[in-house]
Amino acid sequence: MKSSPRRYLLIPLCAAWLLAMFFIYIELRHSGLRTLRDLWSILIQVSGVTFPLLFVSIYLSNKRLQKRFDNLSSSIAQAKEEELSRNRSIIEGTEVGTWDWNLKTGELVLNERWAGILGYTLEELKPIGISTWERTVHPDDMQSAEIMRHQHLRGEKKYYDAQFRQRHKNGEWRWINARGKLVEWTPTGEPLRMSGTHMDITEQKEAELALSESKRMLRRVLNTIPARVFWKDTHSVFLGCNQLLAQDLGQETPYDLIDKTDYDFFSKEEAERFRQDDQEVMRTGKAKIAYEEALKRPDGGLIWLLTSKVPLRDQDDKIIGVLGTYEDISLRKQTEFELIQAKEAAEAASKAKSEFLAVMSHEMRTPLNPILGFADILLESCTEEPEVSYINTIISSGQRQLALIDDILHYMRIISERVEPNNQQFNLVKFCQSLIEELQPSAGELTLHFQNGKLGAPVPVDLCVETDQHMLRRILENLLNNSIKYTHSGSVNLQLSMKASPSPRFQFTVQDTGIGIEASQQKQLFDPFSQVDASYTRKHEGIGLGLAICQKLTHLLDGKIGLQSTLGQGSTFTVDLPLQVVTESPASITTDRPTPRKEKFARPYKILIVDDKPDNILIAKALVESHQGQAHTANNGKEAIASCQKETFDLILMDLSMPLMNGIQASNWIRSHSSENQHTPIIAMTANVDKEAQNACHEAGMAAFISKPIQSQDFFQTLNALLK
Ligand code: ADP
Repeated sequence: MKSSPRRYLLIPLCAAWLLAMFFIYIELRHSGLRTLRDLWSILIQVSGVTFPLLFVSIYLSNKRLQKRFDNLSSSIAQAKEEELSRNRSIIEGTEVGTWDWNLKTGELVLNERWAGILGYTLEELKPIGISTWERTVHPDDMQSAEIMRHQHLRGEKKYYDAQFRQRHKNGEWRWINARGKLVEWTPTGEPLRMSGTHMDITEQKEAELALSESKRMLRRVLNTIPARVFWKDTHSVFLGCNQLLAQDLGQETPYDLIDKTDYDFFSKEEAERFRQDDQEVMRTGKAKIAYEEALKRPDGGLIWLLTSKVPLRDQDDKIIGVLGTYEDISLRKQTEFELIQAKEAAEAASKAKSEFLAVMSHEMRTPLNPILGFADILLESCTEEPEVSYINTIISSGQRQLALIDDILHYMRIISERVEPNNQQFNLVKFCQSLIEELQPSAGELTLHFQNGKLGAPVPVDLCVETDQHMLRRILENLLNNSIKYTHSGSVNLQLSMKASPSPRFQFTVQDTGIGIEASQQKQLFDPFSQVDASYTRKHEGIGLGLAICQKLTHLLDGKIGLQSTLGQGSTFTVDLPLQVVTESPASITTDRPTPRKEKFARPYKILIVDDKPDNILIAKALVESHQGQAHTANNGKEAIASCQKETFDLILMDLSMPLMNGIQASNWIRSHSSENQHTPIIAMTANVDKEAQNACHEAGMAAFISKPIQSQDFFQTLNALLK
């Protein structure tokens, strides 16, 4: 800009100079240079022409310049005005408040929007000054805003950028973002003026606060749940975890785990296993839930984890990693292990107990075999008194002894083992009738009856049920025997009735007109070894286990047992059972009913008796022969096989425990080797009456089971049923 006036000045100067030179030249031509005075006069003449010209030129040039400057200034002012109005409309459009603050005078210039953000008009805020801001800013935020301002004034920050709360006219706090900078300095370089903007960022700030609160909450949840949580990217690199997991892996905070992989913490094989699991979950998109895995600790110990992994997806459902949790179940595993050990120990103890019971049963019953057996044989051949009474006393004492042994062993078995009902299908009415028939001889003078439907709906005569027939028999036999025992005159009745709905229930009532039981004593009678009056009942035998066994068996069949009794008038025992009614044809249904007594076999069958004890052989032989059978004998399994290879038998009676070869081995051999006796019925004969022994006999191909001591009636019935 400064070169232009010089240019305008040079032009007239040069023109004046050229004109002057021209005059000098003309003068010198016409007159020639004679003296210094002439030259001087020429110069004066030239200057006289040149300088007026020069001043005129300068004046003209200045005039022109002035005009140009004026034009320029007005166009600059116009441009400035346009710029300002453009800025103003931009500011208006961005809803930004503006401020301009003179730091020296404290004068503050604000726009309408500045006041509007706080719900005011500028007019309402007057008088406006820096105190306008100070009045409305939140006291807690003022200090941080001041720090920002000083940092900017000291030149540490290029801009003043602060966030603070200001009180709105309605009392709420609005979040403001103030930005600005120094725009003017004093001539001595001190800050003079700052200007900038105010923006209402309340919504953004609230969203930020909500977000950071939800992040904090998420972190709290992650750190509170009693499980280890982690998440990894598609390359199985840790992206995050909770505090528990960080601790497990020896890290101070979850952030220390970020960007690490399982290879940084575990052995190569384990890390590879974890990685393969991650990859499988991400590849298939299917979660792997609650699987147990063992992990080696750095000290060599083993920990057990219950792990779950699920694919981690983004909002477009794309798999972006894997999320996993695991629980340290080492303690549970240890407890499980201890429980298994305890169970095994208990099972071993229970097995030992069962074995003991089996041996006890065998050993207590074995001596009774010859006593009862020979007494039976003697009775058949003896007709004279008092010998017959003596023999009968031997038999009844032996049987009483046997009943006691049976009661004790049975009760011990029920309470010490998990006895399960072994169901059969049978006709219920026939079953009850046969029971009464069987007990008839022991009823003596008493009337013993079976009544169907007297106390409720009768049971159809062809109705079949499914339950453990032996258990039911044991219950009813015990009750009926008790009634017979404790009734001097009158009657004992077994009554049956049913209730068909909602599910079939059957009621068995044993009613007598006996001595009755005092009310105060009725409840405890179902406890083992309890009797009403020991002195009285001593007369009637028994050890107080019968009712306890009845109650246990009834419960095993899901039923209830109850008693109603009046002293001196009689007792009524009721057994209520939910029996399953079956629809099979009666032909396929067996009723555990003894076949009628037959004295002789249909023909002289050849029967092989295998036993190592001469007494037992003698009894069995006498029984076979007393029924007109042909008895052959063998002292052990080996001899039995040898006999079977030589002769054909109609039936084999086989003891179980024998030297050289036991009964099970011998039966197996006979059944598996082709001979005339391969299919000959074999009957086990043993003092071991437990279920396992019976099962073993069936598995070895034996057809029936006779328990020692042998009872002649049982013996004949069982043999007769198998002989053709
Ligand atoms: P026990 O082997 O002594 O008969 P139970 O458990 O069968 O043992 O019976 C316990 C007691 O209950 C008997 O000793 C007897 O006092 C009493 N009792 C059982 N049934 C009857 C009954 N029908 N009438 C009177 N008393 C009975």
